Amino acid sequence: MPLSEFELIERYFRRCGAARADVRLGVGDDAALLETGAGMTLVAAVDTLVEGVHFPPGCSAESIGHRALAVNLSDLAAMGARPAWALLALTLPSAAASWLEGFTHGFAALAEAHQVALVGGDTTHGPLAVTVTLLGQVPAGTALRRGGAAQGDVLFVSGTPGDAAAGLALEQGRLAAGEHSEYLRRRFLFPTPRVAFGERLRGYASACIDVSDGLLADAVKLARASGCGVELDAERLPLSAALGALGTRQARELALAGGDDYELCFAVTPGALGRLEAELPAAQWGYARIGALCAAPTVRVRDATGELSVAATGYDHFSAPQP
Ligand code: ADP
Ligand code: MG
Repeated sequence: MPLSEFELIERYFRRCGAARADVRLGVGDDAALLETGAGMTLVAAVDTLVEGVHFPPGCSAESIGHRALAVNLSDLAAMGARPAWALLALTLPSAAASWLEGFTHGFAALAEAHQVALVGGDTTHGPLAVTVTLLGQVPAGTALRRGGAAQGDVLFVSGTPGDAAAGLALEQGRLAAGEHSEYLRRRFLFPTPRVAFGERLRGYASACIDVSDGLLADAVKLARASGCGVELDAERLPLSAALGALGTRQARELALAGGDDYELCFAVTPGALGRLEAELPAAQWGYARIGALCAAPTVRVRDATGELSVAATGYDHFSAPQP
């Protein structure tokens, strides 16, 4: 027996994610009622994942549930915000219990880990697409932004960019499987949004962006928003051992232009570098210095041999080949 829309919501979404005391009214009424903290700014982000565009057809339901929330958590992390409440708009080709169980398992595990409550949404029939709206809070006046950095600020990235792009290439059969395939595939299917690190970067970073379209493309967005250009040193890119095993050239290309990393790229003024290194040690938080902001509007990537020419465009939905 297929589930009705009402049964589906009751069974899978009435209790999903963390229980929070500030949720006055969650799933079940016409809208949710949420208590916001005094002196706080509400932070809102929404992202859609469409089958065949953001994940390959046949991708596991657990991964889709995880990624739908992870991409939004990463946006809030980039603002230095603490996530709290999510709304989920789900368009499903069928109400298959096994798919819904996998999806809610992936979504709820990440939601609980970050104390996010699912407080509402919408459920419709159609081609598979998932939209999550995520709300969170930041102390008024302290949010990180893309703009705000200046020429001379040092640029950093968290984690090991490029892994997810290699994982997607493996999923799509564009890259031959090897001994690190499982690690790389998981980095695409289950990315780790840097929520705690984003919050800690308030007061240290002069600007911040999350890396979704590719490190170089997103670093350029941060630079442009700050009225600067950018210089990256390819020798400094923090490559995982698994990515490095593909060879330095391909590894660096994936790290610079890949995408789907959900890491943080941030700038720090020279005067704040000592505090950053003392209070948020790189060895503990997992980030690396990759370059600097320079006078607008140049974009330069160098390695030991000189200047590289790298396309800085990143992923664009309307210039990508249409399916
Ligand atoms: P309405 O028609 O008033 O929008 P719905 O019947 O669509 O109400 O939804 C009933 C309740 O279930 C609402 O509180 C809505 O926010 C919630 N809801 C519907 N779909 C989902 C979903 N996929 N995830 C979480 N909550 C949902
Ligand atoms: Mg509705």
